[in-house]
Amino acid sequence: MKCSIEGCPGEYEGRKIVHTVRFQGKVVVIDHVPAKVCSVCGDTLLNLKTTQRIEGMLQKTTKPEAEVPLYEYAK
Ligand SMILES: [Zn+2]
Repeated sequence: MKCSIEGCPGEYEGRKIVHTVRFQGKVVVIDHVPAKVCSVCGDTLLNLKTTQRIEGMLQKTTKPEAEVPLYEYAK
């Protein structure tokens, strides 16, 4: 599938990404999320099913598999 960014000649390819979302003010990181990533500009697409599953995971407040260090760049 061709990239949706205007002027970008890239194609989306299936990859597993590290997805970061902000939920209730906190940064939440989800690893190995299936996504389509442009091979040129890196634009990322998640399909609706994946997005809904992530939202479900956040709502259930299940215990995370691991805690990750969080660094603040803008200090
Ligand atoms: Zn692109």
